[in-house]
Formats: sequence, structure tokens, C-alpha cells
Amino acid sequence: MKSHPLFEKTRIFAPGPTPVPEEVLAALARSPMHHRTAEFSALLKRVRENLGFLYQTQQPTYVLSASGTGAMEAALTNCFSPGDEVVVINGGKFGERWMNIARKYALTVHEIPVQWGHGVDPQQIKAALAQHPRTRGVLIQACETSTGVLHPIEECARVVRENSGALFVVDAITALGVCPLPMDAWGLDIVISGSQKALMLPPGLSTIALSQRARDARDTAKLPRYYFDLKFEDKALLHDQSAWTPAVSLIAGLDVVLARFRELGLQSVYDHHARLAEATRRGVHALGLELFAKTHPAPSLTAALMPGRAAIADKVIALLRQRYGITLAEGQDAYQGKMIRIAHLGYFDDLDMLTVLSALELVLKLLGVPVQLGAGVAAASSYFVEKESPCLKA
Ligand SMILES: *Cc1c(COP(=O)(O)O)cnc(C)c1O
Repeated sequence: MKSHPLFEKTRIFAPGPTPVPEEVLAALARSPMHHRTAEFSALLKRVRENLGFLYQTQQPTYVLSASGTGAMEAALTNCFSPGDEVVVINGGKFGERWMNIARKYALTVHEIPVQWGHGVDPQQIKAALAQHPRTRGVLIQACETSTGVLHPIEECARVVRENSGALFVVDAITALGVCPLPMDAWGLDIVISGSQKALMLPPGLSTIALSQRARDARDTAKLPRYYFDLKFEDKALLHDQSAWTPAVSLIAGLDVVLARFRELGLQSVYDHHARLAEATRRGVHALGLELFAKTHPAPSLTAALMPGRAAIADKVIALLRQRYGITLAEGQDAYQGKMIRIAHLGYFDDLDMLTVLSALELVLKLLGVPVQLGAGVAAASSYFVEKESPCLKA
């Protein structure tokens, strides 16, 4: 019953890339300005000020022409030396990515394995720091996108601060702009984001902020770096310039998004995401799916196992795409075929979540799963009625 192309729509519900608002698409479509101009300098200055607002920091922010992984690599190469010891919180695919990058750059990795679907217990970090007193960095995700879990960053930061002189490095690619993560108030040393998640842009940009401690570490850090050497950026930033040719169009798009964040206010942005997340969780629960996050479910995405943990997620995802042009993310590793991940970070609203829940009901029904049509939508709708949108009040 696939729609004719005349009526076909593409609906992305993957936790990156996420949909891009019309207003941002319009900004992206403009002729790119030359980057060695006063016009570009004004743009970059404004974007970095607004990033400071989003990060809740007085520290310098940098915009890099790379997907988020580029900023993860930059964080390590700028602030560490070969053989430095780092503790990595590994609760999913992105925790693994920290370990892979760190090992490739000859850092000594002390892994804290965290069962998938759980947040790290800050006491585990305390124990690891006691066991490895020479630790120079603690690497973590704020939201582990492969499992839909939000690690307790504020508590972890406190433990790192109180028990070591290590840099606390946070991959916040699916958390910044979704939930509170005040860099300065929580004492975070490096915070990273990426364009194609909560920032509502196409892929291709990442942002990174460094505390004074991180910049001090950079002065003696010996890992090789060139393109991502943030000292080149610091020099260029004296004139509100970037060291290399920047992704001008994406930065123009980011300018629009950040201005909207400022206008609405961070608390409303966070409340909006928390509300969509709660409605989605209630919806999938009402359909008999099992929430994957046993503790700390993230406001950025909902990961869920199929009813009875059946290995039908591949079929669900394929049918959603074929019939309704919907893209969900699948589970990874042991959860391949068993898990779906529904994004609600970035450019999504109430009806988007009802749409994806409704489509989910339809394909489950088609696959012979005994769901009651409308149950997921009803559960989510009831919550939407009960909890007023912060965007209406704003
Ligand atoms: C998306 C994502 C990244 C970055 O991946 P890229 O493919 O390089 O954009 C890193 N960490 C987390 C937690 C993510 O969700």
C-alpha cells in the first residue's frame, strides 16, 4: 500500500540526522559569503556568543568543519600526550568510540564497562580514580545514543573534581540543547556537540568548548594535531576568523537555530524535550514495547525492545520505511533486530510523535503483533493534554 510518489513524504525519526526547519533550509540555500570578510566575522562572533549561551559558559567555543567524531578527536589530540591515562565510561557504541580514538592515539585506557541500558554509577568513577591516581582525563557521553540513556553528568563531574585533577570530557552530541548541561556551573572541561542532532542542521559541523584547565593542558599536550589544532583557531579568533575555510553555509544555519534557542529560552527548550520524551515513552509502553533504559531514560531519544523481546525490529523498521517513508534507528550489536530507537531531539512537535506512534501501531498490527490500534497514540495524547507545551506559554 505504498503511496504514489506524488503523495510520498520522508519523515526522519533517527537520532541524527534529524529534520531541518524550513527557516534553516532557507538560510542554507543562500549564496555562501566569502569567509575573509567583515560580514563573516560578524556572523562567527554572534554564533560563538550564542554558543556560549547554549553551553552556559564564559569559556571560548569553537566551530569545527567535521561531524561530531572530529570534535571528539580534537578533544583528545589537543589536551593529551601519548601514554596519558584516561578513564572511559563505556555504556554503548559511543563509549566504545571514545576508547577506539583514545587507543589509536596511544592513550592508556581504563575502561568502566556499564551494562547497556544503564547509567554509570558515579561511585564507579570514584573507584577507578582511586585505582588509577595518574588519570589525566575522564571521557563520557552525556547521552549514550545507542541505548537511550542519560548518564548523571552533574554527579560524575563532582566526583571527578573531588577525587582527581583529571579533565572531565563530555560528548554531549545528543544532550546539548536537549537537557540542562551548564558547563561552568557543573565544572565540565570539554563539551562537544554536533550539527545534525539537537542543533537541527544537516551533518557537517561540530562545536567544542574548552575550560581554562583544558586550555592549560593543551599547552603541554604532545599528541600530533594540525587541522584540529585549536591554537590556530585561537589566533584566527582574535579577528573573529576561523583558521581554515569554514563551512560557511552551515554556520549561517546555526546562527538561525541559536537565535531561536535564545528567543524561546533554554528552560522551555528543555521542558519541550522532556515532554515529548515522556509522551513517547508512555506511547511505546502502551503498545507493549519494553523501554530499554532501565535507569536514566534520555530526553533525546527512546530506545525500546519489541513486545516479548521478539526479533522483529528489522521488519518493523523496513515496513515503516516502505509504507510511510519513516526512518527509525535500529539497535546495535546484541540488540540488532530487537530494538528500535525513536528520536525526539531537535525539530519535532506533538503531532510528529503521534505520527510515529500511529505508524508503529499499524506496522505491528500488520506483523501480527496483538496491539490495540490507537493505544499508543491515546497514551501519548493524554499526556500532551495533561502537560501543557512550554512553547505555547513562551
Ligand atoms: C552522533 C553522535 C556522535 C557523532 O557521530 P558523527 O557520526 O561523527 O556525527 C558522537 N557521539 C554521540 C553520542 C552521538 O550521538
